[in-house]
Amino acid sequence: MGKFDVTVIGSGPGGYVAAIRAAQLGFKTALVEKYDTLGGTCLNVGCIPSKALLDSSEHYSNAKENFSEHGIDVGNLSVDLNRMVERKRAVVEQTTKGIDFLMDKNKVTVFHGLGSFKDQNTLEIKGDEVREISSKYFIIATGSKPASLPFIKIDKEKIITSTEALELREIPQKMIVIGGGVIGLELGSVYQRLGAEVSVVEYMDRLIPGMDADLSKELRKILKKEGMDIQLKSKVTSVERTGDKVEVQFENNKGESQSIEGDICLVAVGRKPYTEGLGLENVGVELDEKGRIKVDEHLRTNVENIYAIGDVIRGAMLAHKAEEEGILVAEQLAGQRPHIDYNLIPSVVYTWPEVAGVGKTEEQLKEEKVDYKTGKFLVRALGRARASGDIDGFVKILSDKKTDEILGVHMVSARAADMIAEAVTAMEFRASAEDLARISHAHPTYMEAVKEAALDATEKRAIHS
Ligand code: FAD
Ligand code: NAD
Repeated sequence: MGKFDVTVIGSGPGGYVAAIRAAQLGFKTALVEKYDTLGGTCLNVGCIPSKALLDSSEHYSNAKENFSEHGIDVGNLSVDLNRMVERKRAVVEQTTKGIDFLMDKNKVTVFHGLGSFKDQNTLEIKGDEVREISSKYFIIATGSKPASLPFIKIDKEKIITSTEALELREIPQKMIVIGGGVIGLELGSVYQRLGAEVSVVEYMDRLIPGMDADLSKELRKILKKEGMDIQLKSKVTSVERTGDKVEVQFENNKGESQSIEGDICLVAVGRKPYTEGLGLENVGVELDEKGRIKVDEHLRTNVENIYAIGDVIRGAMLAHKAEEEGILVAEQLAGQRPHIDYNLIPSVVYTWPEVAGVGKTEEQLKEEKVDYKTGKFLVRALGRARASGDIDGFVKILSDKKTDEILGVHMVSARAADMIAEAVTAMEFRASAEDLARISHAHPTYMEAVKEAALDATEKRAIHS
């Protein structure tokens, strides 16, 4: 029986990063993964494959919609979805192989098989063979799975989750997406760019409901302009397969019953924590009311040597949040005192233009009765935006009315996914809007919109608006 200091269960961005950090700190570390490839949801069926398809479809859409304006004629354009999906697979393979390399490099022992607790120091691993290892500490990083609605039967063919949507072999003529959150809008965008008619049915009164409402409004405007049908305040009541088609019925925003027929229905109503098969009952690890593993502020479960991180615990279901938590637990075990500021975990939606936000939304500041001021700058006023033709969007900075400390930054813009890092850095150092406004930003760049929004927040003294 192998003996380890730290055993991590699950090899997603939370788990594999925790394993590397634990090994760096000198712990004898094991990583247990039930699938053959490492990398978890993010690398295999999440962040990376979805971004590969988003980029491929964006190239096509640019060639179709925007090249001619730049004086480029490409003749007859066509899409070979099979090749696009093959490329995505190759990207995933390269990325997951990179994790194998990192495990070797850091001398982490990898076991493939389902990890299940026998007692608080013993894990059974059921793979090609059944073995047992013992460990002083465990970090559970078993992630999440797609959620659904009780009356929907996911058949993985016509009624699908994000996992199958990354592997379609034919572009649907009509795709119905249930849920106007991150997955629905990212994968809906992929197929819309490739020529599908896309309808999104969202329960709330706006898209991407967790983000600042101005972002929801702007994104809705842009997606509608591109032809996406968006039904808000709509409650899905049934999803049925009718031969080769799928019929989705819902109560629309007027309370009337409405139905849409499509070739594919993507169910993207959130994800649920994954704890099946872990044998938590054998060690008495407690779950909360949503089925997530309960942890304290040190990410420790109610069992003293067992920790949990990532999608399987409370908080945003994001790869970079899981990574920070993995590092935090490993460093704590080594006697360090790390800290995560959850308010400064950025959110990004990889539509085009991209949507990104960090810190407090305007709605939260209002609810918390914080006195704040707003600076806003429209992307279209940037020289860089006009040169490239990506003119939609804005950057909004919210800062404290008295101290000018930046409280939230929200943006819709080409390259917003990268631009948000400047806001996170500024907020980590508790910068004021004026601090940001006085920093030189290279010209011409999209980042100048951040400086201009900061100037606007400071004293309404943006230069180019
Ligand atoms: P996971 O990545 O889910 O990994 C958990 C691993 O544990 C899995 O490999 C699983 O097989 C394994 N496991 C489970 N139980 C056991 C067991 N008993 N024994 C052994 N192994 C086990 N986030 C972003 O930040 N940016 C994005 O762009 C982004 N895009 C996404 C796109 C899609 C389509 C999806 C579905 C998700 C996306 N996410 C994105 C979310 C991101 O994938 C998750 O937040 C992240 O993967 C969570 O990491 P994790 O380590 O907690 O768990
Ligand atoms: P989500 O929570 O982002 O969106 C789900 C949407 O479905 C919400 O808008 C919700 O109001 C809606 N909904 C719920 N029940 C409904 C119903 N009955 N009818 C109609 N709409 C309904 O979840 P998701 O898009 O499934 O993504 C899951 C997780 O994966 C998210 O937490 C997200 O953080 C993560 N993810 C992140 C990225 C990224 O960072 N770019 C990309 C994809 C996924």
